[in-house]
Amino acid sequence: MLKIEAIRHSLAHIMAYAVQELFPGVKFGIGPAIENGFYYDFDLPRPLVPEDLPRIETKIKQLIKQDIRFEKKVITKREAKKKFKNQLYKLELIEELTEKKVTVYESGKFVDLCKGPHVKSTLQLHSGQAKEVINGFKLTKIAGAYWRGSERNPMLTRIYGVAFKAKKELDDFLLKEKEAEKRDHRTLGQKLELFIMDEEVGAGLPLWLPKGAVLRRIIEDYLYKELSIQGYQWIVTPHIAKLDLWKTSGHWNLYRENMYSPIKIDEEEYMLKPMNCPFHVKIYQSKIRSYKDLPLQLAELGTVYRYEKSGVLHGLTRVRGFTQDDAHIICEPGQLSTEVTKLLKSGLKMLKTFGFKDYDIYLSTRPEKYAGTPKGWEKATNALKYALGKLKLKYQIDPGGGVFYGPKIDIKIKDSLGRPWQCTTIQVDFNLPERLKMTYIDKSGKKQKPFMLHRALLGSIERFVGVLLEHYTGALPLWLAPEQVWIIPIGSRHERYAKEIGEKLKISGLRVRVKDENETVSKKIREGEIQKIPYLLVVGDKEMKSKSVRVRSKNKDLGMMKSTRFMERAEIEIEKKK
Ligand SMILES: [Zn+2]
Ligand SMILES: [Zn+2]
Repeated sequence: MLKIEAIRHSLAHIMAYAVQELFPGVKFGIGPAIENGFYYDFDLPRPLVPEDLPRIETKIKQLIKQDIRFEKKVITKREAKKKFKNQLYKLELIEELTEKKVTVYESGKFVDLCKGPHVKSTLQLHSGQAKEVINGFKLTKIAGAYWRGSERNPMLTRIYGVAFKAKKELDDFLLKEKEAEKRDHRTLGQKLELFIMDEEVGAGLPLWLPKGAVLRRIIEDYLYKELSIQGYQWIVTPHIAKLDLWKTSGHWNLYRENMYSPIKIDEEEYMLKPMNCPFHVKIYQSKIRSYKDLPLQLAELGTVYRYEKSGVLHGLTRVRGFTQDDAHIICEPGQLSTEVTKLLKSGLKMLKTFGFKDYDIYLSTRPEKYAGTPKGWEKATNALKYALGKLKLKYQIDPGGGVFYGPKIDIKIKDSLGRPWQCTTIQVDFNLPERLKMTYIDKSGKKQKPFMLHRALLGSIERFVGVLLEHYTGALPLWLAPEQVWIIPIGSRHERYAKEIGEKLKISGLRVRVKDENETVSKKIREGEIQKIPYLLVVGDKEMKSKSVRVRSKNKDLGMMKSTRFMERAEIEIEKKK
């Protein structure tokens, strides 16, 4: 059986071959197989236009039919340098290789620096039932990509392709892609007037527009209320701290590549915080703690800053500054499994409220480099397993996937297209209590080291809003919609009535806008539907006379309704968080 990765990777080579034929003088970057397909980065003599993709595609099909073999050759570094003498990017890669020998693959007139695996010959891409493979791939996208993902390097042209074993699979995939495109939160964010990005502000730093800020506030208020009931205490901590703190905590040593350069204040260096944890520990240590204080749950909507390469930044889901719904639970070792059980239970309940009922759970165990003792890891891992078992939750083990400081549970929620999104994480930490010398006094009056759990439920507010938008295609449930109701007067003589109703609805707690601009009713309705406003209330003579409103929701006319009746309906819907 041919592995799909081998097919995808081989297609990357053949695409590069095709590009070499069509664009003499092209310089090659790299071309791996990726999820659902492949890409290759090129330094081209001219920019590509969309019409180039079908041309390249046709060329690829011609090449596939020619029985081109993938011949492996192991050569010396010096020979490799000679072979790739006109390929500056390949030369750079060869230069960095630590091995003396270099593996190259020759297919027809195209040579690539590569370790494989590939198909033996392009005939395999269309022989027998795999004949469909020729039709099972498609070039989908042209994008700019910095060489090795760094802004300091030249921008190359990346061509993406998707590939499957059968045409049917490809068609299904493309259909799903189209659906996903409609749901792209970056487009929705603009259309719904939630957030923007501004080049002058900087990449990966979203600006929240008034409606976006309301949405955030609704989510934050919900968290605040729920977690307060669960016994969390809320704290607020600064965005920067002295470099020394990050040295003591271990972040400077192990997490530096995600941190920004120091900021000099007077004679001392400060760092933007990549995490909130050390601050929470400091607050824990602000007084002597006894077993009676434990478990202590400290929560913060903490804004952190982490370095991400510009190439991976993506709307709200991959940014450089974001607000975590962060919390730390400090407990006695014996309380660990109970605390994790509580976290899982309340976390899943809250995710369900937001409309996420499907998820995959992962338990990550000890990696090669770790803090703490093997015995401690085993105990903590068992506590996590116990909690998962107690709640009868199915999970997969990710062996060695834990963070260096402890084992963890991750929950990936699935959106309405079945796409997984990493949100919740619950992590045991052996490192910080040790490094920052946390203690508590136990029942017998002895000083002990507590256990510490890091947990984020939604992950980050930014990312979660992105996921919500894609999940609901922007049509947020009533309780989350930043604008819940628009009231549209038919003529200017209905404006006063519209405003009266508006006031009443506002007093009952709804987020309302009276659309009294000088535009046609149909235009206002269209605009409301584009902005996915849950309820559009149209009022004219008839409605005025009968103290009613004409209700439109989700592109449907629900007919006339007494305004009091509409209010009840909306209240119930919000209460149920439907
Ligand atoms: Zn290869
Ligand atoms: Zn933490």
